[in-house]
Amino acid sequence: MTDDVLTADQIADLKSTVAGLMPGIRADLEALTRIPSISLDAFDQAHVEASAEATAELLRAEGLDVEIVREGGRPAVIGHIDGPAGAPTVMLYAHHDVQPTGSDDLWDSPPFEPTERDGRLYGRGAADDKAGIMAHLAALRAHRGSLPVGVTVFVEGEEEIGSDSLPTILERHGEKLRADAIVLADSTNWAIGEPALTTTLRGLIRVVITVTTLDHGIHSGMFGGAVPDAMMPMVRLLASLHDDSGDVAIEGLRSGVASDLDYDEARLREESGLLDGVDVVGTGSLLTRIWNKPTATVIGIDAPSVATSSNTLVPSVSAKVSIRLAPDEDPQEAWAAVQAHIAKHTPWGAKVEVHLDDQGAGFAADARGPVYDQARAAFTDAWGVEPVDIGVGGSIPFVAAFAERFPEAAILVTGVEDPDARAHGANESLHLGEFQRVCEAEALLLARVGALPR
Ligand SMILES: [Zn+2]
Repeated sequence: MTDDVLTADQIADLKSTVAGLMPGIRADLEALTRIPSISLDAFDQAHVEASAEATAELLRAEGLDVEIVREGGRPAVIGHIDGPAGAPTVMLYAHHDVQPTGSDDLWDSPPFEPTERDGRLYGRGAADDKAGIMAHLAALRAHRGSLPVGVTVFVEGEEEIGSDSLPTILERHGEKLRADAIVLADSTNWAIGEPALTTTLRGLIRVVITVTTLDHGIHSGMFGGAVPDAMMPMVRLLASLHDDSGDVAIEGLRSGVASDLDYDEARLREESGLLDGVDVVGTGSLLTRIWNKPTATVIGIDAPSVATSSNTLVPSVSAKVSIRLAPDEDPQEAWAAVQAHIAKHTPWGAKVEVHLDDQGAGFAADARGPVYDQARAAFTDAWGVEPVDIGVGGSIPFVAAFAERFPEAAILVTGVEDPDARAHGANESLHLGEFQRVCEAEALLLARVGALPR
């Protein structure tokens, strides 16, 4: 490319600089991974404090002005360093808290003792998201002494428990975080050797439905047949959430279409553990189904348990339903659609109440413009192949929070994970070869954004 903002020599130099930095990056990643910074209430929060402090120390060593902020939740680390006069500012996000590990028996090596096997580094947080922190450090170190852009680093301490205080942090410290481009390093690449930008995330609403038909439980032999128990209308209501193909049947919910990537049923079965003989449900391409269409999943039911049940017409039952939303859906409009659906589909005049338990907006990037072009070029420099645009079927509340707070910024959702990373599961791991590409790409991205004409 003759009109590229970097020369081939500049690209090669930066890649070799990053390669030379990797042993130190790896050592610091292992040290961070040894801190069991589980943000869930039931765990010792001293470790989350320690991981915030360790992160702050790493940033201070690169010359950033660093503070640890708390707005009613876990400690977040904010660091800043100016770039050349007039240069754009890039904000780099990651989180230093981790998920619980579950039973240690499920791990092949202790979760907080980082261990390398077959080119992967195993440990809770080794990928999600302490590798995200270290990718940012790698980019800073690669440009030590001559940063091409201003850099703000924001490392959250409660992503794994829902980022509850993030809106307050953005409200009170938002000016410090303002940037022209935001890199959120907490997603995944498409496959080993195939980088990706995550351009859509689904939103979510979660509702609790209670159906009541009787003012008290009664003998099922005396009245059953004429008097409906509460489960009878409830199962019909829940069944009405899907059509015969398995698509969500709630009228008025939006659907989108995924980008055209190869993803076949065999891979879906393999990755999800779907049993032989069990059908795949829904319509449209598989990626459209898991990234761009709504879902409705009954995730809990309060009713007598099998063990303690008696021969009674149950007067009242409740169900919690998690509804994932198309990336561009408005959660409030979805909530109205769900309420209308429930009112229409609860049979026999049963009393039904529904309340909104949780909601979060999705994300649909307009992934065009100079920063996206430079990001794609940086990925291509690092991997030798162009990145693909992917969706993620889950919801990452902080992405929508940043998009709302900084509508003018280009938001890049990148990641250190690959399909075998098992973030949140036992034997979480980081592919070390891919991690070096991630670090190279981020260092190159800063150079490229800094070299944009202004
Ligand atoms: Zn994460």
